[in-house]
Amino acid sequence: MLKAVSLKKVYTSGEVSLEVIKNFSLEIKEGEFISLVGPSGSGKSTVLNMLGCLDTPTSGQIIINNTSVTSLNRTQRANFRGENIGFIFQSFNLIPVLSVYENIEYPLIMVQNLDESERKKRILKLLEEVGMLEHKDKTPDKISGGQMQRVAIARALVTNPKIIFADEPTANLDSKTAHMIIELMKKIQKEHQTTFVFATHDEKIVANVDRLITLIDGEIVEDKRIVR
Ligand code: ADP
Ligand code: MG
Repeated sequence: MLKAVSLKKVYTSGEVSLEVIKNFSLEIKEGEFISLVGPSGSGKSTVLNMLGCLDTPTSGQIIINNTSVTSLNRTQRANFRGENIGFIFQSFNLIPVLSVYENIEYPLIMVQNLDESERKKRILKLLEEVGMLEHKDKTPDKISGGQMQRVAIARALVTNPKIIFADEPTANLDSKTAHMIIELMKKIQKEHQTTFVFATHDEKIVANVDRLITLIDGEIVEDKRIVR
């Protein structure tokens, strides 16, 4: 469902060029629960942002669900991302002035033409699924970090994406909450067949994925499948 071929990313500042991703190729199958691991600065976030269409490679090709996303222009890419990809961030990135319900609704208003009642049905079902129904009218400052990440997960799922990218999703959570969030994502992966791609060095996530890609200095040094 996702194929990356010879990705390279070079950051240039003034006279200095830094090649942070050197030659990254990867195939991901539908329903995989997979993580990029490696030391801080090894390029995990850079790769995740390119695969998730938030950023573009300097060279190389990315194909997602038969679309060559690296051939799309900026607007096409943003539309593709809105309709096919979900993102979960370390710092949750909820919109502070919107309620829990409205935060989840937001991506739907941006990209899809669903009528009001269909939208509401979908949001309420997700609120239930992530255990946040009773908090739906609160703003983010009235809920805990773990609850914020539940809302962010629901927001990532609301457009029914086939693939979700999660960059250090448990880094700002205590370990008990982190475990609950991981279990929630596993449940979602099983029930919706959603592909999850993590970037993390959290052992709790590493212990749950079925494939580990290790990056060092922008290169894959190991690609390991784990049978549980
Ligand atoms: P990780 O997520 O594994 O910690 P990153 O992908 O964030 O690694 O960073 C990889 C390398 O790219 C680091 O050396 C980082 O300093 C550099 N880098 C990341 N973003 C930028 C940027 N916008 N401009 C210049 N260098 C960057
Ligand atoms: Mg990172």
